[in-house]
Amino acid sequence: MVSKAVPEDVLMNGALIRDLEAVAKDTALLHGVLMRTKESPNSSEVVSYAPITLFPSPLPKVLFDQGIAVQTHFNRLVDKISQDSKFLQEALASTIKVDDFTARLFNIYMHILQEGCSQPIAVGLNRSDYMLDRGTDGNTTLKQIEINTIAASFGGLASRTPAVHRHILKVASRLEEQKRILDNNPAAGLAKALALAWKLYGSERAVVMFLVEDVQMNIYDHRYVENELWNRNIPVIRRRFEDVSKTGLLDQDKRLFIDGQEVAIVYFRNGYMPQNYTEQSWEARLLMERSLAVKCPDIGTHLAGTKKVQQELARPGVLEKFFPDDPEAVAQIRATFAGLYSLDMGEEGDKTVAMALANPDRYVLKPQREGGGNNIYGADICQVLSGVKCSSERTAYILMDKVQPQPVHNYLLRSGCPLKLNTCLSELGIFGAYVRQGTNMLLNECAGHLLRTKSAEYSDGGVAAGVAVLDNPLLL
Ligand code: ADP
Ligand code: MG
Ligand code: MG
Repeated sequence: MVSKAVPEDVLMNGALIRDLEAVAKDTALLHGVLMRTKESPNSSEVVSYAPITLFPSPLPKVLFDQGIAVQTHFNRLVDKISQDSKFLQEALASTIKVDDFTARLFNIYMHILQEGCSQPIAVGLNRSDYMLDRGTDGNTTLKQIEINTIAASFGGLASRTPAVHRHILKVASRLEEQKRILDNNPAAGLAKALALAWKLYGSERAVVMFLVEDVQMNIYDHRYVENELWNRNIPVIRRRFEDVSKTGLLDQDKRLFIDGQEVAIVYFRNGYMPQNYTEQSWEARLLMERSLAVKCPDIGTHLAGTKKVQQELARPGVLEKFFPDDPEAVAQIRATFAGLYSLDMGEEGDKTVAMALANPDRYVLKPQREGGGNNIYGADICQVLSGVKCSSERTAYILMDKVQPQPVHNYLLRSGCPLKLNTCLSELGIFGAYVRQGTNMLLNECAGHLLRTKSAEYSDGGVAAGVAVLDNPLLL
C-alpha cells in the first residue's frame, strides 16, 4: 500500500502539476535552493535549482519529535566515543585488518594518541539519519540508519527549502498545511558551534578553513554556513587537500598556517571516502590532525561515525558504559536502534552469515563507506557473503536489519529529468552541534533537520549521488 502525501485529485491534475512544477523550480531558484551543474561543477556562471520534491512528505510529529529529543544524547555519545581510545581500538580491531581506508584513518588516530592531543577544544557537527519502520505489529517506529560525523551536508540548503514548499502549498490551495512545515535553520545552528569554537581558539585573525572537494557542485550548501560565519566577522577560507600539501605548515607551537594565514578551525567537507585521498592528501590530513587547529571533526570523532562502531554500540551493555548515570539517555538512544550484527570471525559472526544467507531481503550489508551507493542488498548479499564468509574479509562489513518504510507518492524535481509520479521513501536527518573544551561541554544542541526522499526503486544513495532529493516533513 502506498500512502498519499497529496490528495489524489491534486496528484492527478496534470495541468495543475505542470503549473506547480514551474512554480517550484522558480521558487527554489528565488530562495537560493541552488546547485551547480554536472557540466560545470566548479563554476557559478550557470547554476540550477537543487533537486527537490514537488510536495512535502508526511511524517508523524511524535516520531519527528523523538529524533529531535534524542539528538543531544547522540552528540554526547559521539563525543565520548571520540575520547575513548580503548573502545575505539577494540571496536575497530577486526575491521582495520581488512579495510584499508579505515586502517589509514586509524593509523592517524594512533599517531595523534602517541604524540598527544594538542587541542582541548572539540567541535562536532553531525547528522543522525532515520527511516520510519512499519513493523510487523503495525506500529511505526523511528530507526536510525547511521550517524554522519564528518562532512554531513545539506544543512545550508535545508535552511531554504521550507519557503519553497510553503509557497507550493499556497499555490495548490492547501493553505492549512503550510503551518505544518516547520522553520528550519541548520546553517545558523552549525555556524553557531563553529563560531564558539573559533572564539575559544582565541585569535581574531585566525580563519576557519573549509576543507573542500576538487569538484564543488554543492558549494551553495557550504556558502550558507560560511556566510553565517562572515556575518559574525569570522574569516573563512576554502582550500583543498592539495592546497594544504603545498602551503600548509606548523610553527613551533603546532599552530597551522595555510598560505601564511593561521587556521583556527579545519571544517572537513571532504575526506570521508578513499577516492578523496592521494598519498599527499593523507600526509596533509595528518598534518592538520597534529596541529593546534580545532578539527571538525577530529580523527577520533570521524572514527566514531563508522558503521562498525554503530554495530558495536548496539551490543548489550555498551551504551550503559558510556552513560553510567543516565539510563534515560541510554533508553532514548537504544529505542532508535535497528538490529545490528557483527561479522567478526567466530561463532557470532558465523550466525550472522547464516541469518543473512537464509533471508537476504531482511537485511542490508554495509561496508565502512560513506557517500551513498555502497551498501549491498538482496541476492547480492548472498553473492558477496558466499565469497568472503569463511575469511576475515567479511569483517569489513556489518549486517543491519532492513528498515521498511511506508512508501508515499510524490513528484521529484531534478534538473534535466522529466517529471513523473514516483513511489517514494524518505529519510529524516537531524543535525547535532556541540562544543567541548577539556571536560566542559559548552554547547550541545540540535541544529535542525533535513528530509531527503528518493524513488523506492533505489535501495541506496543520497542527494549528492543523484538519487535522493531535498524535501520537508509535513507533520501529521
Ligand atoms: P552512507 O554513509 O553511504 O550514506 P547509509 O548507511 O546511510 O550509508 O546507507 C545509504 C542508504 O542506504 C541510506 O540513505 C538508505 O537509503 C539505505 N539504507 C541504509 N541502511 C538501511 C537500512 N538498514 N534499511 C533500509 N535502507 C537502508
Ligand atoms: Mg554516511
Ligand atoms: Mg547515509
